[in-house]
Amino acid sequence: MKELIMVKYGEIALKGINKKTFEDMLQSNIKRRLKKIGQFAYERMQSTIYIEPLEGADVDEAVEALKKIFGIGAIQKCAVYPKDIEAVKAHLSEYLADALEDAKTFKIEAKRADKTFPLTSPEIQQTLGDAVLDAFPEIGVDVHNPDVTVRLEIRDNGAYLSAKRITGAGGMPVGSSGKALLMLSGGIDSPAAGYMMAKRGLVVDCIHYISPPYTSDRALTKVQKLCEEMTEFCGDIMFYCVPFTELQEAIRDNCPEEYFTVIMRRLMVKIANYFCGKDGYGAIITGESLAQVASQTLSAIGCTNAAAEYPVFRPLIGMDKIEITEIARKIGTFETSILPYEDCCSVFSPKHPRTKPHLDDILKAEAAFDFDKLIEKAVAETTVKRYKYGEETVFLE
Ligand code: ATP
Ligand code: MG
Repeated sequence: MKELIMVKYGEIALKGINKKTFEDMLQSNIKRRLKKIGQFAYERMQSTIYIEPLEGADVDEAVEALKKIFGIGAIQKCAVYPKDIEAVKAHLSEYLADALEDAKTFKIEAKRADKTFPLTSPEIQQTLGDAVLDAFPEIGVDVHNPDVTVRLEIRDNGAYLSAKRITGAGGMPVGSSGKALLMLSGGIDSPAAGYMMAKRGLVVDCIHYISPPYTSDRALTKVQKLCEEMTEFCGDIMFYCVPFTELQEAIRDNCPEEYFTVIMRRLMVKIANYFCGKDGYGAIITGESLAQVASQTLSAIGCTNAAAEYPVFRPLIGMDKIEITEIARKIGTFETSILPYEDCCSVFSPKHPRTKPHLDDILKAEAAFDFDKLIEKAVAETTVKRYKYGEETVFLE
């Protein structure tokens, strides 16, 4: 018996003339990911990618990796038989034994993409249903709410039998929507924001601002760890690390304390603008959520936004902390995010930040100092590293 994995599309299935481009992208994302696990052969037919393990490559490990690839609607492990109902019946009990072990009820779902097959779908269901009842006399049929749905699909190349369909990560293949720059802090929110935008097909690269000696090496290592964890869903990530100390000191020395945070965030955005222009990012992503803190009120976000020269995506804007935390747990970044190291945002943070800052006042406050020179310097001193999925980090100095 040959076992393989069927990958069914998510939203791609709804695309029109561009569908092939999306399919190509999904398939190459899958290939890149599974290369780390072993060798697989690929075939694409009827809105499905068939992945066959070669030379003992581990199917279950591949399924685990596939669960984290955007663009996939469903994953099914299946056995392939000749298109002959007797052949399927002869082997079915052996293949289904594991899946039906703890089940009390089942149903058969037959699909006949190959209309030349001599039995109709209801006839296939009847025949296989009887065969399952014979082989597993202790379980019964429940067509409405079965413990296990056994699927047989008659396709061009064979009969595919499966007992488990796993929901895929959904969304669009990473890269199919272009690329954006995520402002990644060490907190819970920004990795979740990156995950959500990668799900919409963006390549997500990260920019992080550090303020040594006020922020420690361990704080930086924590963010790098987050980056590595994010590659599980996002694929390879470029990581821009911006020295921000002098800018923060200049804000502290020249601007009213109540505006520190908003001015700091605007300067971060201006630096992000620069790298968007230089390296071709079409948007900036942040982990902001409306009203979460003083710098995320409507007025404060308005002031920050005014510094942006690119669209700013804030996928968490309408979520509360519980919802965001759920995402962070699901994607595996939560435990790293709650490590206690300080972020540069907490350095010189005002006791009484202005919750309704006016842009005019902010611009006036910023005019007290020539920040552009320091921005140029920070940009020139920015280091870039590349995090590759499943590989050791490559340093690009
Ligand atoms: P997070 O959990 O993402 O840190 P937060 O609730 O702590 O968010 P803030 O500290 O106000 O919120 O930051 C708001 C957003 O600004 C972050 O989600 C992130 O996108 C960006 N940001 C904050 N600090 C940094 C930093 N040091 N480097 C890069 N981006 C940052
Ligand atoms: Mg933060």
